[in-house]
Amino acid sequence: MTSPYDVRVFGDPVLRKVAEAVTDIDGKLVQLADDMLQTMYEEPGLGLAAPQVGVGKRFFVYDVGEGPEVMVNPTVIETRDEWLFEEGCLSVPGLSWEIVRPKEVHIQGYNLDGNEINIEADELLARLFLHEMDHLNGVLLIDHLEGDTRKAAMRTLRETFIDPVNL
Ligand code: ZN
Repeated sequence: MTSPYDVRVFGDPVLRKVAEAVTDIDGKLVQLADDMLQTMYEEPGLGLAAPQVGVGKRFFVYDVGEGPEVMVNPTVIETRDEWLFEEGCLSVPGLSWEIVRPKEVHIQGYNLDGNEINIEADELLARLFLHEMDHLNGVLLIDHLEGDTRKAAMRTLRETFIDPVNL
């Protein structure tokens, strides 16, 4: 079975929009979350945010090896410390950069039953949460880079995703 969605890649304007709050957790959202998980596993990736499949809603799916999870209307309550780690994104396939992010995060959101979830995450899971939060705010990896690193990354991105040679 192939997934019903293609992951949107760098250059698609939907990746730059601030997503809107989910107002109803209904059957449609549950189905979409299911489809997104399938897409995420097929890619494969550890997380996938709704804007990455063209849906401007504030939720994401993830699995860091402990089973599929869905986070609806997430808020970052607190972050602590920072660390540098090589990070990639399904929306910029094949590329990765060392990105500084907080090492610990307290995130609050809702599951598909509408129950509030509070998670204290560190390292990889914290990074995943912050990466997916970025997607809900129209922010991409490249926005965390500075100076020459950012310039070089922009050049690579333009060559890879924006200016294809259409033969
Ligand atoms: Zn991403």
